[in-house]
Formats: sequence, structure tokens, C-alpha cells
Amino acid sequence: MAFNINEIRKDFPILRRKINGHPLIYFDNAATTQKPQQVIDSIVEYYQNYNANIHRGVHSLSQEATDAYEIARKKIQKHFNIEKDYEVIFTSGTTHGINLVANGFTSLLNKGDEIIVSAMEHHSNIVPWQMLAEKTGAELKVIPMSEEGTLVLSEYKKLLSKRTKLVFVNHISNALGTINPIREITQLAHDAGAAVLIDGAQACSHIKPDLQELNVDFYVTSAHKMCGPTGVGILYGKEKWLNKLPPYQGGGEMIKEVTFANTTYADLPHKFEAGTPNICGGIAYGTAIDYLNTIGFDEIATYEAGLLDYATVELLKIEGLRIYGTGPHKTSVVSFNIEGIHPYDIGTIVDKMGIAVRTGHHCAQPIMEFYRIPGTVRASLTFYNTREEIDIFIQALRKAKAMLT
Ligand SMILES: *Cc1c(COP(=O)(O)O)cnc(C)c1O
Repeated sequence: MAFNINEIRKDFPILRRKINGHPLIYFDNAATTQKPQQVIDSIVEYYQNYNANIHRGVHSLSQEATDAYEIARKKIQKHFNIEKDYEVIFTSGTTHGINLVANGFTSLLNKGDEIIVSAMEHHSNIVPWQMLAEKTGAELKVIPMSEEGTLVLSEYKKLLSKRTKLVFVNHISNALGTINPIREITQLAHDAGAAVLIDGAQACSHIKPDLQELNVDFYVTSAHKMCGPTGVGILYGKEKWLNKLPPYQGGGEMIKEVTFANTTYADLPHKFEAGTPNICGGIAYGTAIDYLNTIGFDEIATYEAGLLDYATVELLKIEGLRIYGTGPHKTSVVSFNIEGIHPYDIGTIVDKMGIAVRTGHHCAQPIMEFYRIPGTVRASLTFYNTREEIDIFIQALRKAKAMLT
């Protein structure tokens, strides 16, 4: 299919909205993406036609719901090139997936062990590990970042040792847009005998990760950042690791047999899927993945690279504007400040003109501390944004600047 921006925009009903009297310009895609009609329809269809609890029922409706949910799991497996379908664990999102793994490692780490994070992580890939370090006595080390917002791999190599048990890094930084070299980071960790978890929340609307090729041990992501619904995501884990980890939550669905003396756990993936899951969310996640693949990830990457180049050039024409995250490999996220103006004030003024950007620390306070700034304005662009929208945004920024300086 040829990339047809006008047709694509028609798929997103929310893009027809007006905000404060202006057509909505949605540049907050790194926080959550909008949903195409196809995904909305699949949610409605589930509740209208085959809502039932899954895996337990003998009745037809339950079978239908179970089949649809398991088909979605297989779509996800295929999309990420995962070897076995039971290595796909449905979660409520990235945060849930990270906490599941961090909790599991409580029984695998000892005092003196080391775990490694990067300087450009989202809080959800920092805090659960700090909690783990506190519980186990393991030490948390940090891969430093350069001024242009890329990880310093020479320093990473120095941190790795026989004591390193786990490395966790994001695939793409939500605050800077930097694409990290996951294959290399993983290989180095494996050479030291450590496992790797990748936070893919920000990556999966821009690229299609091949998880066997990347050879990571764990990968987590959220559906809502790739045109799917909120409240659902996946944890991928290599079978050997998922077998090693204890269950995270106890309850229905995750057991083989329960007596008051003893409980045996269900096989993968059910061992980690206690309780009634987000059934409709899982099904609609599958629909979102179909939708993105119909457009094509190569087409998306080419189009977004064009948007990023255009936005970068036009933004830098504004005097006093500085962009954070200027590495050679980045996705269509532009984080910036205009000298002498608080990011929040810019966000408030452009909102009056219908433009949604994020301002603040983007759940990545260590990055803001690194640059010694309170926050940034972040315009995160995606495949349904246009150059015309960027033009309007630039005009709005010039107006805001005139008002505030
Ligand atoms: C959004 C995001 C998260 C958190 O995802 P949730 O869906 O809120 O759990 C974690 N890491 C990165 C890089 C993100 O962009």
C-alpha cells in the first residue's frame, strides 16, 4: 500500500475535532497515540457481540472470546518474531511488565550482585529496580549519557563484570527520541553473563523489533503507544527465564491445582496471567498491530524521518531555541526549550491554538537534572502528523515567544 497521508488521517476520528476553536494538532504521541476507527470498532464489536470470560467456559461465547484473545497473542508473537506463543505474557502495560520481572528477580539476586540501568530511562524503568536493589542488597549502576543524548558505551563496558546480573535500557528514549543500540548492549551484557530487559514502550509505533534477532531476554511494551487501547501490553521473556521467575500475582487462571496444603502453578503463559485479563484490550491490540502493518513500518519510518528533519530545521530557525537529543539515531521526538521561557508557559499558549504538546520532565527527571533544566517542551510526531501542522506549530511558537519575552 502506498503511504497516503490523507487516507490515513481519515482513519483517526479524533483528528476531526476542534480544540479551543482550532483543528486539533496532536503532538503528544509519546504519551499516548490516537486510535484508528478499526481499533475502536474491534472494541465495540467485542462488547456488542461476544463478551464473555475466557479460558474457562464450555459455552460458545466463551470459546469465541478465548479464540479471539489467543489469535491476538499469536499476532503479537508473529509481529515481534517471538519463537513461542507462550513467551508472550499479556500485562496491563510496560510498567506492569517491568514490575513483574523486577519482583521475580528478588529471589535471584544476592548482596554484592550488580544491576545496570541507563541515564535516560523513564521512571518506570528506574523505580522498580531501586525497590529491587533495596530488597536484595544488589547495587544499581548507571550508564552515563553524552551531551547529545546518547549512551556512552565505553563507560557501559567498564561497568560490566561477573557481578552484573541484569541490564535494563529503553529501546527509544521518550524524552529525547534517541534510538539505543540494543543489539550491541545485549551482546556485551551476555558476554558478561548478564540478562537484558528492554523497555520498548516508546519504540513500537516507530519500528518493528525482531526480538530473536535482538536476542534480548525480556522486552516490555504498551499497546496504547502503538494505536491500541490503554490498560494492555506485553512482557516477552525467553522461556528459560520465564520458567526461572516465580509468579508475580496469585489468583485464578494462574494455577494447576489448589488445595490449602499446596498450590501448583499453571504452565506458561498462564502462570503470569492471574485473574480476568483485559480481554477486549488484548483483542484490540491485535487489531492495532494489523493496522500498523497494513501501513507498513518501512513506510512509517521514511515518512517520520521526513517529519523529524523538517521540524528540526524549522524549529532551529527560532532564535534562542535549543533541542535536547541530537544524536545521529533518533525518532520523531523533538524536546526543546526557548531561552528565558518556561516550557509550561509555551505549552499553555499553544494549547489555546489547538496544539497538544507535553511539557515538563516526561517521567525522566534524571535527564532534566543532567541538562540542569526544569523540563522541556516535547513535540512527539507520528505517521498521521503533517508538515502543515508543523508550520502552524512554528507560527504558534513565534507568537508565544513574542508574548512571553
Ligand atoms: C510510556 C513509557 C513507559 C510507561 O508505559 P505505561 O504504559 O505507562 O506503563 C515506560 N517507558 C517508556 C520509555 C515510556 O515511553
